[in-house]
Amino acid sequence: MSFASLGLIEPLVRAVAERGYSVPTPIQTQAIPAVLNGGDLLAGAQTGTGKTAGFVLPILQRLHDTPARKPGAIRVLILTPTRELAAQVEESVRHYGVHMPFKSMMMFGGVSINPQITQLKRGVDILVATPGRLLDHVQQKTVDLSAVEILVLDEADRMLDMGFIRDIKRVLALLPRQRQNLLFSATFSEEIKTLADGLLNKPAMIEV
Ligand code: AMP
Repeated sequence: MSFASLGLIEPLVRAVAERGYSVPTPIQTQAIPAVLNGGDLLAGAQTGTGKTAGFVLPILQRLHDTPARKPGAIRVLILTPTRELAAQVEESVRHYGVHMPFKSMMMFGGVSINPQITQLKRGVDILVATPGRLLDHVQQKTVDLSAVEILVLDEADRMLDMGFIRDIKRVLALLPRQRQNLLFSATFSEEIKTLADGLLNKPAMIEV
């Protein structure tokens, strides 16, 4: 199995080769074709399995293949529980997207909001955010989520453990109804199942 045989285009295959990956991990083998299909996804995966590339690579390809709904507005929203994970995921977006023109940004609280506003004004395709700071921007009307095509909830179980459910629901209410939704979680409590039931439309299900 190779990255090219999963259907990824050359700029992405080249980027992963440059990272030193030769073979996709099991989650990547399953998630990449599922996300390229355009459908929703429910994935059970721990950190360390390669899950980040499992969603970032096909998302970049979908951005490449689909015209933006509203040029200049955010196309992909990735929510993470912590600033550390937001930083890691955004770094992955930059690495895997190195041969593509998309702009990414990470956003989290505990740092000054003004540089984030400046960066948003310059245009962002892929936003990786923690829920609280994202809502601060929503309140200040400095972020536009009306053209989001793809939503990712990464480590959804940790987000619920940290009490972010109400924040997540407030964010969901601001997104266009028609979009692709990906939910990653290491564990599946009743609360996660309820969230997934309300969020996902006939999802592909994978577990590694
Ligand atoms: P993640 O589970 O997304 O946090 O990824 C765990 C680690 O595996 C990261 O350091 C990645 O750079 C690395 N990685 C992801 N995919 C592959 C792959 N196909 N081959 C080798 N390493 C990988």
